[in-house]
Amino acid sequence: MSNLPSEPEFEQALHEVEQTLAPFLEKNPEYKKALEIVQIPERVIQFRVVWEDDNHQAQVNRAYRVQFNSALGPYKGGLRLHPTVNLSILKFLGFEQIFKNALTGLNMGGGKGGSDFDPKGKSPSEVRRFVKAFATELSRHIGPDTDVPAGDVGFSTREGGFLFGTYKQIKNEWTGIITGKALDWGGSHVRPEATGYGLVYYVEHMIKYAEGESSKGFEGKRVVISGSGQVAQFAALKVMELGATVLSLSDSKGSLVVKDASKPYTKEMIEQVYKIKYDRKELSTLGDQNGALEFHPNGARPWQLVDKYDVALPCATQNELDAKDAEEAVKRGCKFVAEGSNMGVDAGGIDVFEKSRMEKGKSGGCWYGPGKAANAGGVATSGLEMAQNSQRLQWKPEEVDAKLREIMKDAYDLCFNTGKEFPPKGDQKAQELPSLVQGANISGFKRVA
Ligand code: GLU
Repeated sequence: MSNLPSEPEFEQALHEVEQTLAPFLEKNPEYKKALEIVQIPERVIQFRVVWEDDNHQAQVNRAYRVQFNSALGPYKGGLRLHPTVNLSILKFLGFEQIFKNALTGLNMGGGKGGSDFDPKGKSPSEVRRFVKAFATELSRHIGPDTDVPAGDVGFSTREGGFLFGTYKQIKNEWTGIITGKALDWGGSHVRPEATGYGLVYYVEHMIKYAEGESSKGFEGKRVVISGSGQVAQFAALKVMELGATVLSLSDSKGSLVVKDASKPYTKEMIEQVYKIKYDRKELSTLGDQNGALEFHPNGARPWQLVDKYDVALPCATQNELDAKDAEEAVKRGCKFVAEGSNMGVDAGGIDVFEKSRMEKGKSGGCWYGPGKAANAGGVATSGLEMAQNSQRLQWKPEEVDAKLREIMKDAYDLCFNTGKEFPPKGDQKAQELPSLVQGANISGFKRVA
């Protein structure tokens, strides 16, 4: 029996990595020690944040930075502000981040941080006072060559601005200590779009390979998306640009689903979603758009609400698609699923998709792209932002987008080839349609080890 407290989310992520590494470790036992080492964070910083609310009352929250692994570069990973945040969730996210960052091919270690502060319902002044207090402590532990945070759920450019400003005041240093900055103070073009775009670039490679020569990629595909934040919005816009139809979005309150697939989400609707989310309002305030959309309340997820679809893109949060959802997705014709969120599909859901791939392969299997590869475009572009900051330059949008495409292609190839080389036990279809989750975990781990 372990003497450690239970950390369910972290244990889930660790278990998945251990399981998928098994065929690799069997052939390369000298790597076993590295797996033992990599699962313990190099450092965990826990601290208290005291801040003043609008009624001049003191409030207090718990905050953390998990500096998980710096083998490949400075710790790198986002900050999450959400009432559910605890050490288990941040350790799971930090652990995933190590391998995700490795898959980008850039020099970035893995880390994650955040607080159980809930930005919902707080005034902009309260958010600013919280972030300034949070940043005052965090500033001692970060730096352009030490640890470079970014945003995550509940932490966007605005919050990043408060952190950047606080660091600058304390250290008297204008330096790239955070990514996802606004363009005027050292941000990178395409960073806001990067996770969503990168996800779509990754899935495009999956589609074109699985469908072969005659494939038109996303053209004509029906796509179900969860979430309505930055990742979901830009994934939606990119698939529309490529000729696909978007049939749903969601938030924690429920899903807003297209009633008739011939009248799907439009670019204008996504622009409205951007404004709604910027004002921190609920997705349902988008309304039914003249009868085109229907809202399913009580936190309903979209996977069982759309009759027929080809692609599923979970872009909200962890464990948002389970085994039952996965079975229903397969029944409804879904052939490609890839995570814009971290660990969006739970272990049971992954099993269903992997089984479908192993049984049917190219002719009808559902192919799963894990988040640590499929959503790596965000942190990859953060890496490009760090490079621009060091050069004191800002690259053109086309230049950043071209680099992002190349990174996603390399990550896909790496997952594909490694999945072929180290298939899970009993995988009959690995040579035809390899496991991308095997590929992502093994190739990411190998680089770090
Ligand atoms: N939070 C994002 C992720 O999960 C981005 C991290 C970063 O840019 O550092 O990958």
